[in-house]
Amino acid sequence: MIYFCNLNKMKYEDGATRPDSINIQTLIDKYAQDFIDCGKLIGKNGLSVGSGGNLSIKVPGGMLVTSTGSALDNLHADEIIFVAEANRENIYFFGSKGPSSESINHWTIYEEMPDVKAIAHVNVGPKEDKNIPSTLEEIPYGTIELGLDIIPLLKKANVVFLKDHGVVTIGQSLTEATNFLIESADKNKPFILPFVKPLIGAQ
Ligand SMILES: [Zn+2]
Repeated sequence: MIYFCNLNKMKYEDGATRPDSINIQTLIDKYAQDFIDCGKLIGKNGLSVGSGGNLSIKVPGGMLVTSTGSALDNLHADEIIFVAEANRENIYFFGSKGPSSESINHWTIYEEMPDVKAIAHVNVGPKEDKNIPSTLEEIPYGTIELGLDIIPLLKKANVVFLKDHGVVTIGQSLTEATNFLIESADKNKPFILPFVKPLIGAQ
């Protein structure tokens, strides 16, 4: 069971040093406009479907990811959430909203592929002529298994299709990952996924 808790109240049992809330806000301020601009571009290209899809970048001490329920074509700075750590039990984050329910997938990719700096994802299928590698079966989103399932494919291609779900791209920057998404996703193939209750918990 995954639950969220706010980083402000988190006690680090391992004694590790992680960014404090002031430094985290500086990181959010630095990158928020990139998220907003890339989200708008995704929207302009018809790839933002409701609150589906999410963006993230790797930053010192963790990652920044769009919040749960945010619409990519209309992002606000307070919808950029810092995640300090994610595992099967917990997602430790800083922000007034919870991080995307697919945060664990982003985290798993960054952990397994240290060269990846940014990830973009929309719930839209791939363009037919692009020969984009696809996972073989649908795996519930927001699970570590989904992250692990796509990693072998992402090691060979920077664009992957999650069967019956949407396209995921990786890049050296949010702009690069976004551009891969725009090149490869077909706006005529949106997926409306079954609603899953947002995992917002222990504050
Ligand atoms: Zn998705």
